[in-house]
Amino acid sequence: TRVLGIETSCDETAASIVERGADGVPRILSNVVLSQIEEHAAFGGVVPEIAARAHVEALDGVIDAALLEAGLTLDDVDAIAATAGPGLIGGLIVGVTMAKAIAAAKGKPLIPVNHLEGHALTARLTDNVEFPFLLLLVSGGHTQILHVAGLGQYERWGTTIDDALGEAFDKTAKLLSLPYPGGPNVEKAAANGDPKRFDFPRPMKGEARLDFSFSGLKTAVRRAATELAPLSQQDIADICASFQRAVTETLADRVRRSLERFRAMHPEISAPTLVVAGGVAANQAIRAELDRLCGKHGFTLVAPPIKLCGDNAAMIGWVGLERFDAGMLEDDPFTFAPRPRWPLDQSSAPMFGAGK
Ligand code: ATP
Ligand code: MG
Ligand code: FE
Repeated sequence: TRVLGIETSCDETAASIVERGADGVPRILSNVVLSQIEEHAAFGGVVPEIAARAHVEALDGVIDAALLEAGLTLDDVDAIAATAGPGLIGGLIVGVTMAKAIAAAKGKPLIPVNHLEGHALTARLTDNVEFPFLLLLVSGGHTQILHVAGLGQYERWGTTIDDALGEAFDKTAKLLSLPYPGGPNVEKAAANGDPKRFDFPRPMKGEARLDFSFSGLKTAVRRAATELAPLSQQDIADICASFQRAVTETLADRVRRSLERFRAMHPEISAPTLVVAGGVAANQAIRAELDRLCGKHGFTLVAPPIKLCGDNAAMIGWVGLERFDAGMLEDDPFTFAPRPRWPLDQSSAPMFGAGK
């Protein structure tokens, strides 16, 4: 099976061809990601109007590039998969409309994909992870712990009650005047900082429910930055390192509890898997802490390669491929509308009447 994936939900225009051969081994034949970072950098964040326009201009060429890199034409793919939500509505419309047009012209199935399911299942593409597994999804818009029982079977155990973790990284970066996008720059600055200089709060730590909260942490960072202004390079590095330590410890506390819960639920699995996915999964300090925690509890940590943590179309093509092979296709995909909001635990709900 071969699938063309299209991703346009935020600020990267992406297309990819993924394949699973007769040997059952998945392969990424091409993975083209065109980032719009430069278009948005001056504004310190993603501007939806600019993003939508940039997708319109770039998508054609990005799809051509993905086909060229794979050495294939549209006739060689079995299905077209496109991100249908959640995300910025303008970009979603561009990607979905293009996918509909290609699918209609070529008479191929069209598979609308939940962007979060893309992040969630990347580990099956790269590491052959089997169901069920525990998932820590940490991205720009989401921070969740999910029990993944099977394709389309997601149970949410915890979520953020305010900011997403990636958002907390981005806001911290902005506060410290680090360049956009914030996450990687906070990590870089933290490498030269003292993680013990500031004792930032560990929100929700010790609480039994598996939810997250990051807005108090953000306020504490702002207070420290204001008190110290003007900030030296060392101050910035120390704040970043201390922020990263607070975040890492908070995650560890929530994850430890969910490992125990997963264990109790699946006593039959001797070496269960924790998957960490989403843009923030690229963070090395977070990976290292999760790895340590998993080792201690007899879990295996699977984290996708950095390139597949952030937004890409290989993950979208992969969900399309899994759904195609499982026969999980929409009866009439041409009638669905993109969904700006679309919780992962409803990713198998029918697409019709979206927005009504
Ligand atoms: P969502 O997937 O929730 O819809 P999104 O697609 O915008 O949101 P992703 O592309 O998955 O989010 O991830 C982007 C986020 O990851 C940004 O907030 C970015 O700052 C963060 N991020 C990227 N690299 C790192 C890093 N090394 N450390 C921390 N955060 C990072
Ligand atoms: Mg992005
Ligand atoms: Fe994402």
